[in-house]
Amino acid sequence: MSSAIVNRQTFDEVMVPNYSPAAFIPVSGKGSRLWDQDGNEYIDFASGIAVTSLGHLHPELTRVLHEQVDRLWHLSNTFTNEPALRLARRLTESTFAERVFFSNSGAEANEAALKLARRYAFDHFGAEKTKIVSCKQSFHGRTLFTVSVGGQPKYTEGFAPLPGDLDHIEFNNLAAAEAAIDGNTCAVIVEPVQGEGGVLPASPEYLKKLRELCDKHGALLIFDEVQIGVGRSGSLFAYMGYGVTPDILTSAKALGNGFPVGAMLTTKKIAASFVVGTHGSTYGGNPLACVVADKVIELVNTPEVLDGVKRRHDLIVDGLARINETQRVFRDVRGAGLLIGAELTGELAGKSKDFVNVGAKHGLVILVAGPNVVRFAPSLVIPEDDLQEGLKRFEAVVAEVLAAQSV
Ligand code: PLP
Repeated sequence: MSSAIVNRQTFDEVMVPNYSPAAFIPVSGKGSRLWDQDGNEYIDFASGIAVTSLGHLHPELTRVLHEQVDRLWHLSNTFTNEPALRLARRLTESTFAERVFFSNSGAEANEAALKLARRYAFDHFGAEKTKIVSCKQSFHGRTLFTVSVGGQPKYTEGFAPLPGDLDHIEFNNLAAAEAAIDGNTCAVIVEPVQGEGGVLPASPEYLKKLRELCDKHGALLIFDEVQIGVGRSGSLFAYMGYGVTPDILTSAKALGNGFPVGAMLTTKKIAASFVVGTHGSTYGGNPLACVVADKVIELVNTPEVLDGVKRRHDLIVDGLARINETQRVFRDVRGAGLLIGAELTGELAGKSKDFVNVGAKHGLVILVAGPNVVRFAPSLVIPEDDLQEGLKRFEAVVAEVLAAQSV
């Protein structure tokens, strides 16, 4: 029955239709290149969605995974395991955090963070302090709690009743934060750089203000670094570059470079509210995932990789500026490190997906961040030749999209 031949059409025949994947199916990758079923080659400026930050098939990651595959795949939470402990030790030694909880995804890391914030407030302030403040256009995952906290109503449509006592405020607006955060607030959650919402960096003043307001009102400040964390901003975590320390930080995506793993980082005092039995996950802290993530952090947290992010950022931003000089397509290029968003001019509004589709024809994988923003999230270690070749291909993509526009 299950034929060996599968193709894009098979998706429509056997998969739930909640995604609309590309017409081609990548089957192998190496570094910043991908190859599809027909042998076509692509430059990868997407890294999944900011996941394979050390490129595909990084030899060190492959090695540690193979070693662990031959040793032990799974225990349960009735045991702890060495890779999880080593990774937690490394994360606590390299960040503000003193305690770590492992999950399998970003949504689950955020779910844990939000539950912990509610529980901490309950333990320390009583049952009334339940309000969670988040930002419009934010994205925190697809579980019912995280999608409700997220600031994009299109993602909650039809899923009511939703969890309650959530307040969505305008991102980067200090007065709105001041008005919303009060004595009933148990947590404020924010992406230091909004990813899905259009690649919008928070201003340093905004994050400082959120920190101040949380301190004033006894609320916990949660940084969702699922997309921008693990080196993508040019710091190991973006909070380090901003100089504003959260109470809880969530990580996933690049943490496993493609092996599913998420983490919630916090302090000893806050972690104490998750007593035995309050929260859990069958796979969270899985040895295979943790052995990879431990190596990822070791490899990313070096001056070579982090400085390289800044250098590559400049190369891309300069390259886009050059393209924009001759073919005016962007009204704004912004972001941090290697999460870069190029917002289309008014004439091209709503057309970001066209760039992705035409990109595939030119052997280039790029992303959108909403209908008006083309998003670039290449590997942090993309060779500069691949980067220049990708920019060259992108220039051809721009020309083709504009040509189609004018007919
Ligand atoms: N938080 C942010 C900032 C994200 O960008 C994402 C995914 O795009 C998530 C959370 C959800 O992560 P996951 O898809 O691993 O559940």
